[in-house]
Amino acid sequence: MTIAIYPGSFDPITNGHLDIATRASKLFDKLIIGVYDTPSKSLMFNTQERVELVSQSIAHLPNVEVRTFIGLTVDFARKMEARAIVRGLRAMTDFENEFQMAIMNKKLSPDCEVVCLMSSLKFQFLSASLLKEVANLGGDIDDLVPKPVLEALRKRLILRATSLKKF
Ligand code: ADP
Repeated sequence: MTIAIYPGSFDPITNGHLDIATRASKLFDKLIIGVYDTPSKSLMFNTQERVELVSQSIAHLPNVEVRTFIGLTVDFARKMEARAIVRGLRAMTDFENEFQMAIMNKKLSPDCEVVCLMSSLKFQFLSASLLKEVANLGGDIDDLVPKPVLEALRKRLILRATSLKKF
């Protein structure tokens, strides 16, 4: 059985991430989405919320699971008995970083391959951070995120607006 992991912050999971996960799920027997527990970025959703949103968004994909992890991605891969680390590549923005990270991961774990899938054209310019910015400003993000994420974002923004009104 060939297992792969797909690591990231997923704050929150977008249709761009889901597209990569769906395509990777056809290449491997099992795909484990690894939600990074303590990324150095400032987050909108905590780990439990991010895991829950991923879990709801992949419910229709029978060979895809979600787990959290901390520490090195290659250690998580080893623990999951994964042969490959899946990453998504958007035009212009991702290549340098992913290339650097792939070389390092290869050095740390020579038996584990990094498999980069090209982002589909319609998600090339979609990032979780841009999505949050647009959502915060009330922009239409309906076709950019899975339904559970859309609902969670709406709830979060209503809560924020209500607490702002109190001041
Ligand atoms: P990280 O914090 O590791 O960058 P992200 O959650 O931002 O994690 O992304 C996880 C992976 O998904 C990365 O490989 C990233 O390049 C990829 N990715 C993010 N957005 C898209 C998208 N719109 N299309 C394809 N891949 C994407």
